[in-house]
Amino acid sequence: MAGVPHFDNSYIGLPKQFYERLEPNRVAAPRLIQINDVLAEELGLDKNFLRSPAGLDMLSGCAMPPGAEPIAQAYAGHQFGEFVHQLGDGRAMLLGEVVDRNGIRRDLQLKGSGRTPFSRRGDGRAALGSVLREYLVSEAIAALRIPTTRSLAAVATGEQVIRETLLPGAVLTRAAASHIRVGTFEYFAARRDIEAVRLLADYVIARHYPHIRFESETYRALLGAVAERQGALIARWLAVGFIHGVMNTDNMSVAGELLDYGPCAFLDTFDPLAVFSSIDQAGRYAYSNQPSVGAWNLARFSETLLPLLAVAETDQVAIAQQELERYGWRFKMEFQAIFHAKFGFGEVREGDAELVHSFLLAMTENQADFTLTFRRLADSVLGPDDDEPVRSLFINPLDFDRWAAVWRERLAAETRPPMAVREAMRRVNPAFIPRNHRVEAVIKAAIKSSDYRPFEEFSRVLSKPYEDHPAFAKYGDAPAEHERVSATFCGT
Ligand code: AMP
Ligand code: MG
Repeated sequence: MAGVPHFDNSYIGLPKQFYERLEPNRVAAPRLIQINDVLAEELGLDKNFLRSPAGLDMLSGCAMPPGAEPIAQAYAGHQFGEFVHQLGDGRAMLLGEVVDRNGIRRDLQLKGSGRTPFSRRGDGRAALGSVLREYLVSEAIAALRIPTTRSLAAVATGEQVIRETLLPGAVLTRAAASHIRVGTFEYFAARRDIEAVRLLADYVIARHYPHIRFESETYRALLGAVAERQGALIARWLAVGFIHGVMNTDNMSVAGELLDYGPCAFLDTFDPLAVFSSIDQAGRYAYSNQPSVGAWNLARFSETLLPLLAVAETDQVAIAQQELERYGWRFKMEFQAIFHAKFGFGEVREGDAELVHSFLLAMTENQADFTLTFRRLADSVLGPDDDEPVRSLFINPLDFDRWAAVWRERLAAETRPPMAVREAMRRVNPAFIPRNHRVEAVIKAAIKSSDYRPFEEFSRVLSKPYEDHPAFAKYGDAPAEHERVSATFCGT
């Protein structure tokens, strides 16, 4: 078979309680919807193979090429605060690992390819809508320079899945640094299998944090390193108005990538308390709660590592607490760096934090559109004559004017010329995000009329979110009142 991926599988070398082996699973009529050629290239995969009958077999889970060793990974997790001791890949199949063009090991995983020993009462399938949603949003997140799992391919199965109604089925092929979650650690810790926790920790260090192998207290260093990556990640979500929606510990990757695109959403008007997920009744995963949920999840992670940190219990807890502090520290650093850049501040000066804070407050009170406001703010750098596009986004434009007067005084201290400040701001404030109403519209066109052109067009625009794309400006617009999406649903 020509062009078969060169699999180099390491997770399967871990003991047998880490996973279940899977058999391929035929689907009725697999049909290719989309291949991500740029990503295929990065992963060192042969595009012609992916488009061949054998490629389609692999991407739909029907038959495996040589070298693939499909498994479902075991994990547990805290879902909305409650511990569930057995979750695991119930609708996902890890095909194996490939080493990409940069020498990084990446998982290739199918989502929606059928039942596994972890499926519980689920059907192991995915609906086309959720596959297209993950494809579009994960690739947009990657283009926004946020670490994330990626989407390699979408395939229709020709079968229907039963949800509230009958929906067309599909399979997503996802690439990830790995699919090891906080919940994977919790799975073994809950079973008091400390040796398995140690093996998993060693595996994660070797794969994701090789630089700490030589530190004297490696498990302690692992905790701190995972905490830092998570802090940096969540700060970046806030900077683009992203709401994950289901930050359970089984959806938190220890590699520091955004994992699981179920009910995620982007803010239109700025509202720190915004929640879109229909299952998040209490607002646990609201936009501005995300930093504290990250800390909560990491505390659960630290608990799984306690026996590896020291002999005495009091020492274990003290070490864990110390390392967990690196989360908040890194979050603050990253938040400051990104938000300062969003306002055109080249270096930190006194009063900057207050300017950021007062602007966010004014945006909230004035129901200003998050993305448009920051994008247009760049034009105001040149002077108040250019303020109208941004100030008109505020219910009371005078609130903007008052704030802008102080902001301009601050900008006067910048050493860079205004044009350079404007350009720098445009490089961090995207014009295009996967707005909820647009995501729904392209999915609807695909499902209702088998029209994938809007999906492809929107994908193309989102792949270059910092450019203006005048011909596609509509994708940057805020939703009209009747277009506004108020609830998103889990990918199940
Ligand atoms: P998620 O909400 O996607 O994070 O999934 C939580 C858990 O439910 C994981 O163990 C999934 O494998 C499982 N799950 C979700 N949907 C399905 C499904 N359709 N069939 C089987 N398992 C599922
Ligand atoms: Mg999940």
